[in-house]
Amino acid sequence: MPDIKEVSQNVYKLTIPVPINVEAVNLYLFAGEVPTLLDAGTNTPEVIEAVNEGMKKVGIKRLEQVVVSHWHVDHAGAANTFAKEGARVLVSSRDHQEWASFVHGDAFSLLNEWAIKEWGVPETEISGMLKISKRLQHLTALPEQVTFIEPEQTIMAGDNLLRAVATPGHTAGHLSFYNEKDSILFSGDMLLPDEIPYPGIWQENGQAVSGLPSYLESLKKIEALGTQQYFPGHGSASENLAARCHEIREQLYRQINDFSAAETVYLSATSIGEQRIHPGVLFIQLHYVYGWKQLKKQVG
Ligand SMILES: [Zn+2]
Repeated sequence: MPDIKEVSQNVYKLTIPVPINVEAVNLYLFAGEVPTLLDAGTNTPEVIEAVNEGMKKVGIKRLEQVVVSHWHVDHAGAANTFAKEGARVLVSSRDHQEWASFVHGDAFSLLNEWAIKEWGVPETEISGMLKISKRLQHLTALPEQVTFIEPEQTIMAGDNLLRAVATPGHTAGHLSFYNEKDSILFSGDMLLPDEIPYPGIWQENGQAVSGLPSYLESLKKIEALGTQQYFPGHGSASENLAARCHEIREQLYRQINDFSAAETVYLSATSIGEQRIHPGVLFIQLHYVYGWKQLKKQVG
């Protein structure tokens, strides 16, 4: 039986282990008028079985829709499996682009290019990172058809009216979902109680940018909602949204302050540039350092 908990009336949090380096992912089942799954987990039998069991337990016979906060494998991975059973899949057009690029493989040549040009990673280390990324490809599948959902659009999930809030940073098209009536934010990976999500990297006007500057803007935006309660994509639900935003901002400013830029992002990320670090860890660290570097440049 999956770990399942009613977090709000007729809204259930399923916490499910996933085969990547996060402990577990939170999926949300909305029973009621429009049976909905918010985030789908990886496309693996254990996850799909857990969702099916969860549905049975809360009395959902058929999912009408799967809503995706962002395209990463632990959130969008299994969406296509539920789509094949008749659910429509809602995703932002920006993240759908990234999802398709990952599934079709274009994302890897881009990663290779950024690793060389933006980060200065030695060729020998790039192959390790690419191998890890490619392994994740098996955990996701792109639905043939999706429905785009754009910022400020509202949808029904169960009996809840949710407004999509653009919260870029971790990915370019990341959406959070706000239930204004009950003052609850479903924050995806935008706001997590136990970690700062690593900032993404993406193309903007033909140039690579870090998601970190956008992330700081997204923090401001969700604080302005004036709610305290948030249900994240990982970790426990929390009643301290404003305090958590404040804490994250402080921590980021401290990191940016303490960080002294080496010649390349790679050298900063590996500190002394000699010891080998695990390619998965390196991948994440490069994203943080790249973000700090871009922000530092912005504030001068
Ligand atoms: Zn995640």
